[in-house]
Amino acid sequence: MKRIQLYQDDITQLHVDAIVNAANKSLLGGGGVDGAIHRAAGPRLLEECRKLNGCETGEAKITQAYKLPCRFVIHTVGPVWYGGKIGEDELLASAYRNSLQIAKAKKLDTIAFPNISTGVYNFPKDRAAKIAFDTIQQFLAENEFPETVVFCVFDDENFHIYEKLILEKE
Ligand code: ADP
Repeated sequence: MKRIQLYQDDITQLHVDAIVNAANKSLLGGGGVDGAIHRAAGPRLLEECRKLNGCETGEAKITQAYKLPCRFVIHTVGPVWYGGKIGEDELLASAYRNSLQIAKAKKLDTIAFPNISTGVYNFPKDRAAKIAFDTIQQFLAENEFPETVVFCVFDDENFHIYEKLILEKE
């Protein structure tokens, strides 16, 4: 099986080892994918998140998944897009890399990412996809775990961007 997979789905439905949450620094829930994950996981997820004291942009923290079908949730905070000149690219790469690092440390086989920062944080989708793809491809080349990474896109625009990228890079 290919180590990079593309799904167009609701990430809360995936039976993977870990899903990644595009959270905000408070880790206390929000809109978009964060809201969907908290709704599907149930209130115990928020209880655990309250004990984590937030998360810096580009960092990641892991919790249980409660009522979700996956085993863990890795919460990461992508950068808000302010035009690209204050380190947004590197912070986005860090959000992916630090999430992968947690999956590696726990020897997780499969991890699924949403399109971090491309919703209300307004990161340009094309640019975010290239960063996500390159960061993951490099990490997989250097590491045995995770075995498989899923790009779980939600909207059609991101689906077409990733489909094209994967065809080009394979
Ligand atoms: P951010 O604040 O990092 O921009 P958002 O949640 O606003 O986070 O958006 C990140 C991405 O998650 C967007 O591409 C959005 O379409 C997508 N998304 C929203 N809900 C879901 C879901 N249930 N499953 C997967 N992706 C989702």
